[in-house]
Amino acid sequence: MRRNSCFRAASRLYSYLDGEIRAIRRIRIRLHLRQCLNCERAFLFEKRLRGFIRERARVEAPPEVVERIRRLIRERSS
Ligand SMILES: [Zn+2]
Repeated sequence: MRRNSCFRAASRLYSYLDGEIRAIRRIRIRLHLRQCLNCERAFLFEKRLRGFIRERARVEAPPEVVERIRRLIRERSS
């Protein structure tokens, strides 16, 4: 079931994963994830995907490329 709180959580997914939101919002999102399986799955998927990309980037890409990708992701999420 998609509710307003789902849209709110989804719109903050990237800043949440980047640690770029205030504590009170983090807590609200965490509470939502605890009671919403759909959003929890989406967040977990994105988190793992990012971890995977980060691992590969660390091995294969020079730092300026990693920084450029980070910037693109941030632009996409704002
Ligand atoms: Zn939800």
